[in-house]
Amino acid sequence: MAGERILVVDDRNENIDFIVEYVLKPNGYRALTARDGEEGLHKALTENPDLILLDMQMPRMTGIEVLESLKEHGKNIPVILMTFHGSEELAVRVFRLGVKNYIIKPFEIEEMLEAIEQALAEARLREERDRLTERLILVNRQLEQRVKELNTLYGIGRSVTSLLDVDRLLNRVVEAAVYITGAEEGWLLLVDEATDELHMRAALGVDEKSARSFRLKVQDSLAGSVVKTGEPVLIGGGKHKIKTAYLVKALLMVPLKVGERTIGVLSVTQRVSDEVFTNNELYLLSALADYAAIAIENARLFQETENEHRRLQAILSRTADAVIVTDEENRIILLNQAAKSAFCPDSEVTAGQPLVEVVHNQDLIDLFTQATGDSPPVRAEIPLDGDRTLYATLSPINGVGCVAVMQDITHLKRLDQMKSEFVSTVSHDLRSPLTTIKGFVDLMGVVGPLNEQQQDFVNRIQKGVTTITELINDLLDIGRIEAEVNLNMEVCAIDEIINQSVDELRDQAESKQQTLVVTLPPYLPPVWGNPLRLRQVVDNLVNNAIKYTPQGGKITVWVEEYDSQIALNVSDTGIGIPHTDQPYIFDKFYRVQSEETEDIAGTGLGLAIVKSIVEKHNGRVWVESEPGKGSTFTVLLPIYQDKTSRRPF
Ligand code: ADP
Repeated sequence: MAGERILVVDDRNENIDFIVEYVLKPNGYRALTARDGEEGLHKALTENPDLILLDMQMPRMTGIEVLESLKEHGKNIPVILMTFHGSEELAVRVFRLGVKNYIIKPFEIEEMLEAIEQALAEARLREERDRLTERLILVNRQLEQRVKELNTLYGIGRSVTSLLDVDRLLNRVVEAAVYITGAEEGWLLLVDEATDELHMRAALGVDEKSARSFRLKVQDSLAGSVVKTGEPVLIGGGKHKIKTAYLVKALLMVPLKVGERTIGVLSVTQRVSDEVFTNNELYLLSALADYAAIAIENARLFQETENEHRRLQAILSRTADAVIVTDEENRIILLNQAAKSAFCPDSEVTAGQPLVEVVHNQDLIDLFTQATGDSPPVRAEIPLDGDRTLYATLSPINGVGCVAVMQDITHLKRLDQMKSEFVSTVSHDLRSPLTTIKGFVDLMGVVGPLNEQQQDFVNRIQKGVTTITELINDLLDIGRIEAEVNLNMEVCAIDEIINQSVDELRDQAESKQQTLVVTLPPYLPPVWGNPLRLRQVVDNLVNNAIKYTPQGGKITVWVEEYDSQIALNVSDTGIGIPHTDQPYIFDKFYRVQSEETEDIAGTGLGLAIVKSIVEKHNGRVWVESEPGKGSTFTVLLPIYQDKTSRRPF
């Protein structure tokens, strides 16, 4: 790049002319000239040339003296020294004074041009380097500033997000907003969705009274527009009205956003100062608002949870049911008043105490040992001293521990006993006359020959008596099952139960030329249940399969084993159940009304009994059926878990 200014200092005019005319001008350099050292120094200091071509020998002031003086003045202009042969030893001295090159007179144009180019290239490079260095320093300074701002913001963010008291939190946010923007005042408005207004919830620099009464309509206010658009507003210069008689000179408002929802506005203002807010302050305030919105939402959720927690505590402590909550190590988390008076009326209970140290009731402790991480709830009667009985339902809660809710069933037990006595009396009283009727009807044919019509009547009476007897038996049964709180459970081999039931019903199937197949795996784990009731489940399902399958059909009973459950399936190729009836067949007295079923006798209680028994065993029962093709009933029962393999106390 030519165009640089080059100062030629020489006491001989012909030298100067030669350089200017033949070297500098033709190559596009601009020439400055000086005819002795003093003038040269003066021009160098005042004109600041890009390069100096300096003669060594000059009157008044030599080239060396010019160099020394330039150095003293701190000038760092590149210099090419022009010297005669024989003065090379001087070169060493002058290089120390910062000379870039020296050239021996007389010189060729090319030689001089090359020296100039080289010196200027170096100077250009140096200049470029200095410019880059300056820029780097500037960028570094900006970065440092940004890091400082971010650190401040981070510190504020941390202190803000750690606050759970909403009012303190809001005040801290406003203080931080004023601090990072250098504003005179700041305020925070939250949206009240019920009134569609913005309420001032915290302020700094605004007097208490105005702050408390400060309200804006979302509809027609500047802050409202921030809420509606979710975009910040930056205004500076001139006076701006926020509200009647509330004028500001500069203002910055940013939305407080939770997801897509704007919950409020954070604002800073200058009312006296003429300083306006910058985009950087907008950026900082927006970042603070993001922190603040999350913190406000967190604090709100925390307060809601706290309130909920307090409400729950109040309910639990006042409820008549005894409640004990333990952690996964069976240490007390909560033990309400009812539980305290039932199990430890005289001791002081504190959270964290092991359950065994607090409660000395072995039945309850055993129940806690049965409940593991994801097992279904376990239930048991817990006898207390003084003839009282609690009915406990203990549910394991993943990640928490166990919660036991215990109802006082003392009066229910008494009622149950009265009911059992009543049921046995009634069943006896109802059955006795029926037995008598049946006996005499059976004798009718024996005491004398019956004509066809009489035989028909007798058959009808016999059928009616059988139906009533079945109905009474089923009714008594379901009543008993429903009333039974405790089923007298034991370890049951389900395969044995199935085989016994099928053996007994095989004749019935054969009388209809049906095939009855049982497929059991070689080993089936036991279930925890009442064998008589489980037998009743199998009996009812197989009996129904035979009943609702026409002559020559096939009934299959098979069992599958899953992780902690077994599935007992009874499948038939019978008439099937219409889809619209399927949801109701487990209800009491529900029978499918169709041509195919009208001649099949039944009480409509068999499946209700099955469902009741299965649920008492913490199991499930359902049907899959296709009308005309057949039905499959499945009963799911939990496998017995060896208590010794459960978590110990
Ligand atoms: P019921 O004494 O009438 O057999 P259940 O409670 O045992 O009473 O069954 C209710 C109804 O479900 C029956 O009336 C019948 O319509 C239908 N049902 C039960 N089992 C079967 C089956 N295996 N195939 C077809 N329908 C069935």
